[in-house]
Amino acid sequence: MILVKSEALNKEITVEREIGRFGDPQKGPTIVVFAAIHGNEPSGVFALHEVFSKLKRLTVPFHGNIVALCGNHQALKNGKRYIRHDLNRIWEKENLDRIKNNGNGGVSVADEMSEQDYIYHRIEDIFKNHKPPFYFIDLHTTSSDSVPFITLNDTLRNREFAMHFPLPIILGIEEFLSGTLMSYINAVGPIAIGFEAGRHDDPASVENHISCLWLTLEAAGCLQKRDIPEYVHHYSNLSRQSLDGRKVFEIRFRYQRTETEEFEMLPGFKNFQRIKKTKLLARNFKGDILASESGRIFLPLYQNLGDDGFFIIREIKKFWLKVSARLRRYDAERLLKVLPGIEHHHCDKHCFKASKKIARWLVVDLFHLLGYRRLYSSATHHYFRRRRFDTKEPEISYQDLTQINI
Ligand SMILES: [Zn+2]
Repeated sequence: MILVKSEALNKEITVEREIGRFGDPQKGPTIVVFAAIHGNEPSGVFALHEVFSKLKRLTVPFHGNIVALCGNHQALKNGKRYIRHDLNRIWEKENLDRIKNNGNGGVSVADEMSEQDYIYHRIEDIFKNHKPPFYFIDLHTTSSDSVPFITLNDTLRNREFAMHFPLPIILGIEEFLSGTLMSYINAVGPIAIGFEAGRHDDPASVENHISCLWLTLEAAGCLQKRDIPEYVHHYSNLSRQSLDGRKVFEIRFRYQRTETEEFEMLPGFKNFQRIKKTKLLARNFKGDILASESGRIFLPLYQNLGDDGFFIIREIKKFWLKVSARLRRYDAERLLKVLPGIEHHHCDKHCFKASKKIARWLVVDLFHLLGYRRLYSSATHHYFRRRRFDTKEPEISYQDLTQINI
């Protein structure tokens, strides 16, 4: 048990690794919420505390169950983003192998690796002992002011679930950030989305997380709208903060900064602010950094932490969202196979490589439309893999969660 302080609320609470649970695990749906996977983001912990205390006093029917887990317990105790490793960047094959082999060859692991072991085994336990369908939610906050928004891996199932919330949705962050917990969960199969509620120490972020949690309980089918205390308040709390509610954006560009380049964002940029191509955005020791294309600025860096300087995002119009959903339900691979410059890669039938020379025509956009994630690019080719479980929930049993292709 640890003591956690919220600067925003000027309040302290004690937190176990399991923050709370409610409902009957023998009945689905099962909602699994993570808070403070970044230890300097206590907002979600306080929001869950509040929601669980209200749930316990409710006398209306509740379907299924909800479990909430603390992410980085040690870092949360110290008020730090992480101790040695970012717990939201290490859900990759080598660490799953380590878990499978029971730690580092029997040597006990320290810091985030032990946090990861704990979370892994809890997830395994939830799949064994709770009932589907499963919904995973990850609660975050940002370093600078922002309207609340949702991030997700672009599967149609994630999109559909996220559309229940009157918030802007950002697709494709996993092409830029590897090893996130929600990407791992998606690779296992369940729906998994992230809620970014606003600035770390803003009291409104806790309120936004509370609203997100009530709306999640409704969207997953645990509670009826009419049974949720102040449902209308929670819905409008989220919808009134943004003119971009329910718009879907994709990440077009990421500026990766280095420690030594003296990167400095120009002051005053707001998250989601529109920008034109060639607009001056930042400076480093070489000079001006201009927008490579028009769109919106996303997550401009105003702290001296992390290697993302800023992103540029662009709205995907409703029409293209529909086209994309249709094509994916049809058979994307048949279409790709007849296009020049595109071929299967190795023996994995979900993996394609596209020549940069021949398939010049909007090739990345085409793959995105069809539900593929860009893995990497070489000098000559882009490499893509189709996201699994795009349109259908897997029927696999969740026995060995280390054998996941991520
Ligand atoms: Zn975070």
